[in-house]
Amino acid sequence: MQNEIRCSNCGKICKETDTHCRYCQEPIVKTNDTYGKPIDGVEIGRWEEFIGEASESYIAKFRKNEGKKIFVNANIGALIFAQTWMFYRKMYLEAIITYLVGIAIIVACFLIGAVDIFTAVMIMLPLMLAYRVAICIFGDAIYKAYIKREISKNAPDMRKGGTSVAAAIVGSVAFNIILSIISFVFEYVIW
Ligand SMILES: [Zn+2]
Repeated sequence: MQNEIRCSNCGKICKETDTHCRYCQEPIVKTNDTYGKPIDGVEIGRWEEFIGEASESYIAKFRKNEGKKIFVNANIGALIFAQTWMFYRKMYLEAIITYLVGIAIIVACFLIGAVDIFTAVMIMLPLMLAYRVAICIFGDAIYKAYIKREISKNAPDMRKGGTSVAAAIVGSVAFNIILSIISFVFEYVIW
């Protein structure tokens, strides 16, 4: 596969062998800019196409952590929105798994602190905060793993990339309904 290079004039991706940009016809200036080089053996254009919105910022973070499966990198979207961010980035499996772990933490706290609700909440709050911080600092590594899993397939489905506001809304509404049912069961059935 040929390496790709970013046109310094219009910013579009061309082949390294091009002398002129395929889009704006300006001469291609070859610099030591590493932006256009593949990351983990995957062409930069594939990453860009799959990530869609904010791809440059994610690519820069992935470039910095090239070759690493696990790395720490604060993702503010993940800190604030957690699973809603995952649904927005179409990581449905990751969102569901982390939701289930979150529910398990909540349920465990209520079972441990079953003597009174105050104890339960006092155990739960720091744990949930720590869990949220973990999602924030490993969010980018989780996202990179998701992208690599999808684009490494023989016939990658690029529709699994990009972002979806609808998925973010449906995902968080569904989760809140499930959480309400669990709270209801705890409040009226178990206690
Ligand atoms: Zn150009």
